[in-house]
Amino acid sequence: MIGLENIVKNFGDLTVLKGVTLAMNEGSVTALVGPSGGGKSTLLRCINLLEIPTSGELRIGNDRIDFQPGKRPATADIQRIRRQTGMVFQNFQLFPHRTAIENVMEGPVAVLKWPVARAREHAMMLLEKVGMAHKADAWPSTLSGGQQQRVAIARALAMSPKVLLCDEPTSALDPELAQEVVDVLSKLASEGTTMVIATHDLRLAKTTAHEAVFLDGGVVVEKGPARQLFSNPEHERTKRFIATLT
Ligand code: ADP
Ligand code: MG
Repeated sequence: MIGLENIVKNFGDLTVLKGVTLAMNEGSVTALVGPSGGGKSTLLRCINLLEIPTSGELRIGNDRIDFQPGKRPATADIQRIRRQTGMVFQNFQLFPHRTAIENVMEGPVAVLKWPVARAREHAMMLLEKVGMAHKADAWPSTLSGGQQQRVAIARALAMSPKVLLCDEPTSALDPELAQEVVDVLSKLASEGTTMVIATHDLRLAKTTAHEAVFLDGGVVVEKGPARQLFSNPEHERTKRFIATLT
């Protein structure tokens, strides 16, 4: 359902992704692991087109873009891909001047032009799903990090994306609060939500991921079933890296 074919991303003279080819099936969860600076965030940003790849091909569902150096794809094509993705960031990035439920309603009201009542009802259902319905009217600043991240997950789901992209969703959280987020993401995984999760959190990766990808230096060093990559990696570099995770 999602395909990346030979994706390259340059920042000036720096080549951050050196030809990444990956496929993700509908309903699968892919853990993206690897050392800092290896290109995980850039890869996620290239899937939702927060960054435009320098070259390569991206497919989501029936939409497909062929990237050419120095040539920006049509805005309509970018928007179509972007709307099929939801993004969850390490530092939550909720709108501070909107309540929890308003954060979740924002996309459907502003982008999809849903009537407010319908958006509110849908947002409440999503807040229930992440265990945050009781805080619907709370301001983000009054919520714990784990609660903010759960609202951010509901917000990302509000546009019914084909894929949920999570960039180190538990890294900013104490272990106890991280567990709340792991629980929500593993529930979504068991319900068949397609996700790509960049993470250093072995507990998160092990409880959610079907597939795992080890990205180092902008190159996919190893990919395969998560269980195998985490317990019995093939490559020495993967082995050494997995041993540093906790
Ligand atoms: P990771 O998420 O695995 O830590 P990143 O994708 O954040 O890796 O970064 C990969 C490399 O790309 C790093 O060397 C980083 O400095 C560089 N990089 C990321 N974003 C930019 C940018 N906007 N401009 C220039 N260099 C960038
Ligand atoms: Mg990163």
